[in-house]
Amino acid sequence: MQTPEQQRILAAEQTMVNGKFEPGLAVVMEGGKITRVVPVAELAPDAAVERFARRLLVPGTLNAHNHSFQSMLRGVADDCDFFTWRDKALYAYTPRMDEEAVYQGARFAFAEMIRNGVTTVCDFFYIHRDGNANDHAVIRAAQELGMRIVLARTMYDWEGAPKEYQESIADAVARTRELWQAYRGRDDVHVCPAPHSPHAASPAMIQAGSELAQELDTRFHIHVAEGRYERDTIREKYGKTPMRWLESLGLAMERMTAIHCVWLEDDDIQLMGQRDTRLVYNPASNMFLGDGVTRIVDMMNAGIKIGLGSDGGCSNNRVSVFDEMRMCALLQKVTHLNSEVVPAEAVFAMGTAGSADTLGIAAGRIEAGHYADFALLDMDDPSLQPPFSYEKNVVYAMTPHAIREVIVGGETVFHDGELLRVGWDEVLGGLRGVTDGWMK
Ligand SMILES: [Zn+2]
Repeated sequence: MQTPEQQRILAAEQTMVNGKFEPGLAVVMEGGKITRVVPVAELAPDAAVERFARRLLVPGTLNAHNHSFQSMLRGVADDCDFFTWRDKALYAYTPRMDEEAVYQGARFAFAEMIRNGVTTVCDFFYIHRDGNANDHAVIRAAQELGMRIVLARTMYDWEGAPKEYQESIADAVARTRELWQAYRGRDDVHVCPAPHSPHAASPAMIQAGSELAQELDTRFHIHVAEGRYERDTIREKYGKTPMRWLESLGLAMERMTAIHCVWLEDDDIQLMGQRDTRLVYNPASNMFLGDGVTRIVDMMNAGIKIGLGSDGGCSNNRVSVFDEMRMCALLQKVTHLNSEVVPAEAVFAMGTAGSADTLGIAAGRIEAGHYADFALLDMDDPSLQPPFSYEKNVVYAMTPHAIREVIVGGETVFHDGELLRVGWDEVLGGLRGVTDGWMK
C-alpha cells in the first residue's frame, strides 16, 4: 500500500461513481486513500496522470465472509449434506493444519480472490490452537500479497468440535483483545470479535463477543440460522425466533454483522432493520450446502445493509464476489418468479459499498475519504461486449479474464494475470507442499 506521502492519479476511460459509469474522470489518491474525484480537464496541465484507455475503473470488491483454510479442502466432501461435509472436510483435516498449513491456505485463498477482483477479505477464522499464532499467519499472508484484511477472530466453545477451535470465554476474550491491540490503528488490517454461531458458541460466549465489540468499538460477526436445524433448535430450547433470541441476550444489535440468516421470520427481519443489524449474504454457499434462500427482497425493504461473501472455498467452490453478485440476483429472481426484484445495480452495490458497511470500513466506493481499492476491467473483453450497458454486463456477463489490474491502498498488486508481490509459482507451490501430503 502507498506510504503517506505517495500520490497517484488514475484516469480510466470510464469510472464508476454512485453506481454509474462516467467518462473523463480522474481519481487522485494519496497515502492509500482517495482524496479527490474530478474531471481530468480540471487537473493542472503538468499533473502526472496515469491514463488507462479502454478500461473501466470500479471499486474493488469486498469478500465479507470467508474461511481461508477451506480453500485447501476443495473437492474433499462436495455433494454431501452439511454434517457429512463438516465432518469429512473441516473436522477431519483441521488436526493436520499447523501454522504453516494455515498460512499457505490463506495465501492461496487470498491470491485467487485478488485475481477475481477482491481487494478486502474478511476471514472468519477459528483454528486458534490455544493462541494467536495462526491468526497472525493469516494476516501475514494477506499483507504479503498486498490485500486488505478484516480478521473476524472467532470465539468458539462448543465441545463437539475439534479442540483446535475451542477456547474458554476468558481466553477467547483476552486473545481477541490482544490481537486487536497488535494491529490497532492500521488501515491494512482490522480485527473484530466473532462468536461463531448460536450452535457453536454458548450464550455467555456470544454476550462476551458483543461486549468486547463495544469495548473495542468494532463490529462483531456471527453466523445466524444458516441451516433450518439451528432455527428449530432455538425454537425448541428457548421458544424464540433466531434474532429475537439473540436480542434477548442483551446484545449490541447495531454492532452485529449476521452471516447467512436463511431461516428468519418477518419479525426477525423487522428487528434487524430497526436495530441496524447488518447481513452478509452468501448465495452460492447456501445453494452448495442446500441450506435455502435468504429473504433478500424483504430485507432490502426493511432497510437492512447487505454485503456479499463467498464463504469458504469448499462450500462454493469459487471465491469471487462478482460471482456472488450474479448468483444473488439470479437466485432471488427465480425464487420470486420475478426478474425485476433484484437488479444488477443493487447486487453490485452489495458486493462493494454494502460489504464495506458490514465490515465497518470506508471502502467500496470511488469517493473522497475511501480506501483507494479498485479493479480495472478490460472494456474490449468479449464478456463485456457489446456495450449497451457496462453496469449490467459487469454483473451478468463478465468472466474473470476481463479483470486486468487490481489496486489496493493505491498500490497495484495484480496486473494482466500476475500477482506483483508473490508469484503464482510460490503460491501454488506452497499450497501443494501442504496438500500433496494429504493426498498420499
Ligand atoms: Zn461461514
